[in-house]
Amino acid sequence: MIQAPKGTKDVYGEEMRLWRYIEDEIRAITHAYCYTEIRTPIFEQTDLFLRGVGDTTDIVQKEMYTFEDKAGRSLSLRPEATAGTARAYVERGMHNQPQPTRLYYVGPNFRYENTQHGRYRQHSQFGVEVFGAYSAATEAEVISLGASLISRLKVENVNLHINSIGCGECRPVYHARLKDFLSSRLENLCNTCRERFGKNPLRILDCKTPSCQELLTQAPLVLDALDEECRTHFEELQLLLTRMNIPFIVDAKVVRGLDYYTRTVFEFIAPGYTVIGGGRYDGLISEVGGQPTGGVGFGMGIERLVLRLQEQKNAPITATGPAIFIGHTGVEGARKAHELAYNLRQLGIQAESDIANRSVKAQMKYANKVLAQHTMILGQDELEKNTANLKNMQTGEQTQVSLDGLENYLR
Ligand code: ATP
Ligand code: MG
Repeated sequence: MIQAPKGTKDVYGEEMRLWRYIEDEIRAITHAYCYTEIRTPIFEQTDLFLRGVGDTTDIVQKEMYTFEDKAGRSLSLRPEATAGTARAYVERGMHNQPQPTRLYYVGPNFRYENTQHGRYRQHSQFGVEVFGAYSAATEAEVISLGASLISRLKVENVNLHINSIGCGECRPVYHARLKDFLSSRLENLCNTCRERFGKNPLRILDCKTPSCQELLTQAPLVLDALDEECRTHFEELQLLLTRMNIPFIVDAKVVRGLDYYTRTVFEFIAPGYTVIGGGRYDGLISEVGGQPTGGVGFGMGIERLVLRLQEQKNAPITATGPAIFIGHTGVEGARKAHELAYNLRQLGIQAESDIANRSVKAQMKYANKVLAQHTMILGQDELEKNTANLKNMQTGEQTQVSLDGLENYLR
């Protein structure tokens, strides 16, 4: 038997209902926030990710699915969707439209990861990107969109952590302080962090290894190194979040894994894993060939939200089956059942008739299993009188109804 590739999953049945529930809420919230959808290719030129994600990141160094096409071009399955969205913004001249540009996307990403709970090789993200805005209100808008979604979905125990990692001017100052602090303690860092020390020292801050975490409790804080403008920006964001009644935790450990972040970074963290990661990335658009342009966005892992909802006891949606299952006996009863199911479906009413040639008993067993809300059985008698017994499966109540206008009993 051929199995699905490691780290992938098939979404169907009960779990699909949760996906649809989440996607419906995504459409509703992005609509209210006036964000429009963008769909970019699943594969891009590898160079886009080297520049737009960063060649010192784990994503690019270890996790990318890169291949040559038949003409020898190097292409990669997208490991995230921000770089492609930024490329599209520049390539399609979206900066010529009224600014800012507010976009959202929903779709799959591919990363060659060690698979574990909540970590897959194909995962889906809902994400938003705002291009062409520099104010702290931009972060407040984007963060509040994420917070509203989490609360509409009734996902519990998710906390918002925010931080500022400074800009091109003050971050080098912090880098120097951090390296200074770490240089005498290198032998206490894990192997990965020793590598990061040369290439991307900020990344050391969110290392999960206990010995590194212990050591870092003494490290200088990035917030203490912010210049005046970055500090004011961060304070304004906190003020706006407070005005919006959105609780947050200032957390110096949040630094995010991608090279392009400037100033604000944030995560929505659930027990065990991060569900949303995002921030400001003013350097990204010029990295992919555009004019310097402010940008803020986040990515939300849909599989992880589904897991959270499955782990919660009070599932926000309950299963419902078809409004009616029309059973039948005899050739004419069957024909009438199919005809009535057709008529109800035209009115948008969920209706099923039996197309599996089962006995009446087996049909009713089936109707029970799929949680049909009503059932009826059509036979010779019903056809002659043009009426049937409509059974409410919840209450057990039975009503004689005319076969014309059946919809009136089902709404
Ligand atoms: P992590 O620290 O968990 O590896 P990340 O920093 O790599 O996350 P981002 O690239 O910012 O994550 O992606 C945004 C969100 O996408 C994450 O917060 C998470 O919810 C989800 N996500 C990322 N990688 C995976 C994966 N391999 N499987 C499932 N969801 C993922
Ligand atoms: Mg990761």
